Amino acid sequence: MAAADSYQMTAEDERQMLDAIGKWIEKKVAPVAMDLEHADEWPADLVEDMKELGLFGALIDPEYGGLGLSASTYSKIVTMIAEEWMSLTGIFNSHLMMAQIVQRFGTDAQKAYWLPKFAAGEIRGGLGLTEPDAGTDLQAIRTTARRAGDTYVVNGAKTWISNAIQGQACALLVKTDPSAEPRYKGMSMLIVSKIDPETGEERPGIRNGKKLEKLGYKGIDSGEFVFEDYACDAALSLVGGEEGKGFFMATGGLEIGRINIAARSVGIAKRALRESVAYAQTRKTMGKPICEHQAIQLKLGEMAAKTRAAELLVEDAARAYDTGARIDMEAGMAKYFASEIAVEVATEAMRIHGGYGYSKEYVIERLYRDAPLMCIGEGTNEMQRIIIAKQLVKRNPV
Ligand SMILES: Cc1cc2nc3c(=O)[nH]c(=O)nc-3n(C[C@H](O)[C@H](O)[C@H](O)COP(=O)(O)OP(=O)(O)OC[C@H]3O[C@@H](n4cnc5c(N)ncnc54)[C@H](O)[C@@H]3O)c2cc1C
Repeated sequence: MAAADSYQMTAEDERQMLDAIGKWIEKKVAPVAMDLEHADEWPADLVEDMKELGLFGALIDPEYGGLGLSASTYSKIVTMIAEEWMSLTGIFNSHLMMAQIVQRFGTDAQKAYWLPKFAAGEIRGGLGLTEPDAGTDLQAIRTTARRAGDTYVVNGAKTWISNAIQGQACALLVKTDPSAEPRYKGMSMLIVSKIDPETGEERPGIRNGKKLEKLGYKGIDSGEFVFEDYACDAALSLVGGEEGKGFFMATGGLEIGRINIAARSVGIAKRALRESVAYAQTRKTMGKPICEHQAIQLKLGEMAAKTRAAELLVEDAARAYDTGARIDMEAGMAKYFASEIAVEVATEAMRIHGGYGYSKEYVIERLYRDAPLMCIGEGTNEMQRIIIAKQLVKRNPV
């Protein structure tokens, strides 16, 4: 489904949907987020709720059992959930990045096979791009897939993969022709699964390495994948049925991933601002609430203006995405700006909270730990600025 074909809800439908998500956040997420975060526990019950809410199919076409939401509606949902607990958004968003690859580039048979399972949350997963020696430079990956009759045989290792351990599947970037020049021409995308989706039986040759310990983004698992002669059915696995297109699928078609990171960043910034506005009215020094000190007012004013600017950039990018156009520049701007603002606003919120901002009893320390990841994920902010500049030149030739 092209972005422009996504289901454009009426304003009333959207309001009802956001209302339902808001009630769920208040009743089910808010009471447990802090404990799950500090225990770094995978939120099994909330994942079941998210299945029921349809979040694992949020961007999947209704023809395959999804909600087919527009990027505009989707990004509002992501922001709302990130305001309460950002980790949750990774569980369905990384999964949807995998689904988007099948939806946008898969064959009809692949869509019919994978998408209903993804939409139901029955098979969940993420995006397997990064390797120990290749992050930004994706063309340096070493994982290979060799064609053997009707199968591909995969060897290699991936790291930092969200949902690697609790999920079952992965959209895996591989080299099908490791000697190709330029290197991207030898890269392909496979959908791989730890279990047989029909029988639920474990498959040989694919296993998780260790769960990675992180500063923040707790609750969601970030893990390694190791492939040792893992064999998968070529027709179901090779996305689009054609080798050599994987690099484009990984980098070119996933502006929605950057919009999502930007939307999460706005959630972090909004929560940090909300907490700060409330705290500044109750905490007193020198006989008055700190919100009456000009030093704090300057902080709050700047935090509010920048948070709203980030939100508007996300709305702008999401609207552009919904037209179906290529929007590298808009998504890059939203991702870059909103994530830097999340870091800035979370840091200022900590200062406004004084010592209490450093306490694990307050949400601020979590926002402070979660925000920096937004500058790294879905392409680092260094790369975003380079992408923006390249697009500026491309769109404005002299
Ligand atoms: C919590 C977490 C979850 C993640 N989830 C996933 C996931 O689900 N799937 C997945 O595939 N990956 C995932 N990643 C990996 C993430 O995408 C990479 O960390 C990211 O792409 C950066 O790669 P790197 O860490 O290898 O850094 P490097 O590529 O080694 O970069 C190091 C530094 O150099 C800069 N740099 C690199 N090249 C250039 C250049 N050409 N010009 C200017 N600056 C440059 C970078 O911006 C960065 O500052 C995750 C990472 C984390 C921390």
